[in-house]
Amino acid sequence: MTYACDACGATYADDTLIWRCARCGGTIDLPVVPFGADDVDTGEAGVWRYARALPDVPGRDRIALGEVMTPLAPMPVGGAGLRLKVDFLFPSGSYKDRGSTVMLSRLRMLGATDVFDDSSGNAGASIAAYAAAGGLSCSILTPASASPAKLAQIEAYRAQLVKIDGDRAAVAQAAIERAEQATYASHVYQPLFIAGCATAGFEIWEQLGRRAPDSVTVAVGYGSQLLGLRRAFKGLLISGAIGRLPRLYAAQSASYPALQDAWARGADDVEPIVLGTSVAEGISCRMPARGRALLASLRESGGGAVTVTDAEIGVALRDLASAGYFVEPTAAASYAAYGKLAGSGVLRDGDVHVVVLSGSGLKAGAAVAGLIREAR
Ligand SMILES: [Zn+2]
Repeated sequence: MTYACDACGATYADDTLIWRCARCGGTIDLPVVPFGADDVDTGEAGVWRYARALPDVPGRDRIALGEVMTPLAPMPVGGAGLRLKVDFLFPSGSYKDRGSTVMLSRLRMLGATDVFDDSSGNAGASIAAYAAAGGLSCSILTPASASPAKLAQIEAYRAQLVKIDGDRAAVAQAAIERAEQATYASHVYQPLFIAGCATAGFEIWEQLGRRAPDSVTVAVGYGSQLLGLRRAFKGLLISGAIGRLPRLYAAQSASYPALQDAWARGADDVEPIVLGTSVAEGISCRMPARGRALLASLRESGGGAVTVTDAEIGVALRDLASAGYFVEPTAAASYAAYGKLAGSGVLRDGDVHVVVLSGSGLKAGAAVAGLIREAR
């Protein structure tokens, strides 16, 4: 595989430790890999079943924590065709482990010993977990104001916390500067991370009897999950394993609607927007770095974007918990968005719809319980 720059088209061998275009600073991507039924490694239980669609990492070089396929489970009150992809059932409690096992395995194989990322949330925890499992030295850059509860899990994995004064943008700038000395294991910029996230799409396809669903709704902050799904379903489409793409829907916070706004305007790229705060920290993102690709994901699949308020997220948390699913607010945003799409007739009852539940409610148990109480 070869990396290609999204902006200027420059290409780079995939055995170099690179995270963005050296010529213009643009985001880089790996080509979509055709993938069909014969490509599944049935000897593997989870992420690595789809190794043929992933950057090459021999079995002995993989940093794995026994990942298995996450459930594709029913939601009794959401319509007969609704399935929940229970992607919070990963070792660190979020779907980010899909990206981390693939990215850190490959980076270590290429010689990385010292990695870092900028995230005080699920990505930071996940990368710290897999770095610990793989014997890599790991630092996580966070705003100095990040809440101790969010940092506890990262510290538990013995990652070094580097607190940066200023807002999220200041942290991102510090990360770019640090990339001179250590390997930037970025959940936003690294195509390896998105390649790992694609495995959710392959699992959904297998779990539906090797068929694509009619739609998938997923919460979008920086969008690695949406881009991963796009990558998987395009690979399946190219190989002929499916006949059409599922419609992909992005759930965004009403306070951080950069993608939804650009989609609604018919724009080619996103612009930063912040209209307030949100309980859904995982999608509190003023502007995703891969805006063009995210917009293309929505348009080429015939999907779209929906915003949800904190109050709607609270109701979704309540309804999911009432059915046995205890998730974090960001995960509930996807279910709230699905409810709006189904309620307005955009998604037909009787079709097969998937909602991805990205993170566990146990990460912020007291806060989630409080939001559910308020919604009752
Ligand atoms: Zn470039």
